[in-house]
Amino acid sequence: VTSALAQAPSTVLGVYCKRSHFNDPAVAYCTVCGIAMAQATRRLVPGPRPQLGVLVLDDGSMYPLTGSLVLGRAPSLDPAVAAGSASPVRLADPLVSRVHARIMLDGWQVVLVDAGSRNGTFVCAAGQSSWTRLARGGTAVLATGAMVAFCRRELRYHSYRNV
Ligand SMILES: [Zn+2]
Repeated sequence: VTSALAQAPSTVLGVYCKRSHFNDPAVAYCTVCGIAMAQATRRLVPGPRPQLGVLVLDDGSMYPLTGSLVLGRAPSLDPAVAAGSASPVRLADPLVSRVHARIMLDGWQVVLVDAGSRNGTFVCAAGQSSWTRLARGGTAVLATGAMVAFCRRELRYHSYRNV
């Protein structure tokens, strides 16, 4: 968790509210102060990407979304974790692959990537009851409230932007 915070923030295109808070262009209200984003000058400018939300695991542990994460039984084996460009999330379960899945941040989007796992990566959107299995190596963009399952382990994505 601390290594994720240590990563330098990436630059993304966003919009500033009237009080100079940097925001996702998709939001209707500033995520910091809550004022409406409808303005005469809604100009896209580069800025530092804020924390996009958190992942909450089924054991209650939380991971801030400030950079890439690698999830698995032995995520430290992943080159990105070894190089310090991604943070490990260890899922202690024999059915979980050593490097099972990744969470990548793409602009303002949180992208789930199956890392060629043996037993699959599953996603269930908020308010739905059916799970969808990602193709091996497949990806899915997560919306707030989405559940992700790796065999018997689960996590939920909470966006800070309600999108
Ligand atoms: Zn604001």
